[in-house]
Parts: sequence; C-alpha cells; structure tokens
Amino acid sequence: MSEYKKPLPELDGLTAEFYGWCKKGELRFQRCLSCNGWRHVPREMCPECASTDWEWQRSSGKGKIFTWTVAERPMHPGFADAAPYAPVVVELEEGVRVLTEMTDCMPSDLVIDMPVEVTFEAVTPEVTLPKFKKS
Ligand SMILES: [Zn+2]
Repeated sequence: MSEYKKPLPELDGLTAEFYGWCKKGELRFQRCLSCNGWRHVPREMCPECASTDWEWQRSSGKGKIFTWTVAERPMHPGFADAAPYAPVVVELEEGVRVLTEMTDCMPSDLVIDMPVEVTFEAVTPEVTLPKFKKS
C-alpha cells in the first residue's frame, strides 16, 4: 500500500465508532430510539427530538447522487494527482447524506439521482473509507 496523503478522519469518540463499522464492511448510522430518525454525521443528541437514546443501525448501502462539485485544481496537496475530482454527496435510502467519492466514474459521468451503492476502501491499516459505485 503506497502512502496515503489525503486528510484522514480523527478516530475518537463517535467518529471512531462510525469508521470502526466501515472497517468491518458495514455502513451504519445512528438511529434515534425515540423518533426513529436516522442521522449523520455522528452526534450525541437527536436533532429532531433531542433524545440521547440511539443505536447504530445498518444502512442498505444503497442511495442516489444528491449533488457534487468538481475540483479542477487540488484544494489540498494530498489531492495533487487526483484533479479533476468530484466530492459527491450521496443520499442513502434511509435519508441521511454522506460526503464521499465515486470509485467507478469520472466527474463528467455524474448524474443527479444516479443509483449508487457503498463500497469500502481501506486507505490505511486503521482507516477504511465508505465510497460509492454505480448500482
Ligand atoms: Zn429523535
């Protein structure tokens, strides 16, 4: 594995738990045990009902492209060889949205509402990122 130069998540607290599931090949989000609302990014309190009772529930991993932008020039040195690249927002079937990256298409191939599904990429021994591919 060559050295990974892009920014990595800091693995502490709820963030560590989220990426821990990814490392096991499972995409899980918090789901409120009071109002059943899904949420992402991880946080202690439900933004809908303020409950602090929740659990990690497994996502279908299926969704659609909600939006994206194209970075023509790298915004970080770690992306020097990647441009042009497209940070993509995927909306999962559960309703949560994830900022991610497509693994199998160029920015010019992206279409709003394109069906996608999760795939996992171990970028370091510690970090596995959820990315998406055409479904
Ligand atoms: Zn709630």
